[in-house]
Amino acid sequence: MSTLEPGIEFRYESVVRALKATADACGRAPSDVKLLAVGKTFDESALLKCAELGQRAFGENYAQEGCAKVDWFRENRPDLKLEWHFIGPLQANKTRPVAERFDWVETLDRLRIAKRLSEQRPEDMAPLNVLIEINIDGEDSKSGIAPEALEPFASALSALPRLRLRGLMAIPAPADDEAARMKPLEAMRRLFDNYRARHPEAVDFDTLSIGMSADLREAVKAGSTEVRIGSAIFGRRDYGARPQQ
Ligand SMILES: *Cc1c(COP(=O)(O)O)cnc(C)c1O
Repeated sequence: MSTLEPGIEFRYESVVRALKATADACGRAPSDVKLLAVGKTFDESALLKCAELGQRAFGENYAQEGCAKVDWFRENRPDLKLEWHFIGPLQANKTRPVAERFDWVETLDRLRIAKRLSEQRPEDMAPLNVLIEINIDGEDSKSGIAPEALEPFASALSALPRLRLRGLMAIPAPADDEAARMKPLEAMRRLFDNYRARHPEAVDFDTLSIGMSADLREAVKAGSTEVRIGSAIFGRRDYGARPQQ
């Protein structure tokens, strides 16, 4: 686990302020951009500090670690009513615990995984909100589907009864200058807008999850409706101490 360094109050407020200032400058309502606090490698006490500052939506990357945190908060702080987003790669043998706990899965790129999540979503829970991950820079090493594959993949997903397709997600390749950072973000925005224009019936398709600590401002400018912020809130991560899963 990573060690939470002092100053989370200051870091969290700085992120909230940057989000609001950027939205204001773009003529967008700050409430149109959801802030997801990404807590991977940090323990429950770090997330609790963040929740006590007013944060409600949390993102987790690893099934075992994330499920343990959901369970801890359900057990100990159900009053906080946190919202949980799974944002990491998901293997077939980990779909059930995720389907049983999370509110969102943002990284769908394989129909097999989507079918399992739909089948395994408990009847007494709301349908699982899902985003399709797009490999927007066409990187060989990256997960996500190609932009051209969106139509058929989305149409296959809409046949799955226990999933609710909410939009798109991407993790663009890091870039040094602002213009290079804007490019994939704007490409995502066009893909999102084009899909919505072609599918007026898809009223739930309202979420564009782009933007991390390094490109928060650019993502809000590009039209992101959800930014996933880890290190800018929690500080430096230490992967070394993470148990194998
Ligand atoms: C870790 C992670 C983030 C947060 O990254 P930071 O650069 O720490 O803000 C966002 N999205 C995904 C998919 C991640 O894995």
